[in-house]
Amino acid sequence: MRTLVLNAGYEPLAVVSYRRALVLVLNEKATVLSESDDVIRTVSDSYQRPAVIILNRYIRPPAPRVRTASRLAVLRRDRYECAYCGQHAETIDHIVPRSQGGPSDWFNLVACCSRCNHRKGNKSLNQLGWTLSFTPGPPTQQYRWLKDFDRPAVEWQPYLGYWEKTR
Ligand SMILES: [Zn+2]
Repeated sequence: MRTLVLNAGYEPLAVVSYRRALVLVLNEKATVLSESDDVIRTVSDSYQRPAVIILNRYIRPPAPRVRTASRLAVLRRDRYECAYCGQHAETIDHIVPRSQGGPSDWFNLVACCSRCNHRKGNKSLNQLGWTLSFTPGPPTQQYRWLKDFDRPAVEWQPYLGYWEKTR
């Protein structure tokens, strides 16, 4: 009984109760894109329950929460692949070693296998002549909340598909 809300640029923004969605539509803040078969009856009217609505004006999405770069969080971001050799990573590495002032943040931590970790020791990439194939940073979690819904409604699928492809 929930409604998917798209931002004016068609990206998924939130999931709200259908009542909230109806209020947005009746106040001309949003337009219905897809309706479900359910009919909602009030004292004076009846409506199709909106399945997907789109905001009439673009709003700036809420900034994603940035989590701390824990060992597990870095391994997950890098899908357990060593940043240097691509093998299975079981540990994390400071790109700029801590002994050289390297911070423990999303920009300086990467997943690393124990072999590379051992070889790298306290040396910097320059000293070793190693390169990184990507620029580390905080994981994107703008749409994490979508995963909180085990089974997205059928009517949402076309819009979530668009989101998956353009992500
Ligand atoms: Zn490695």
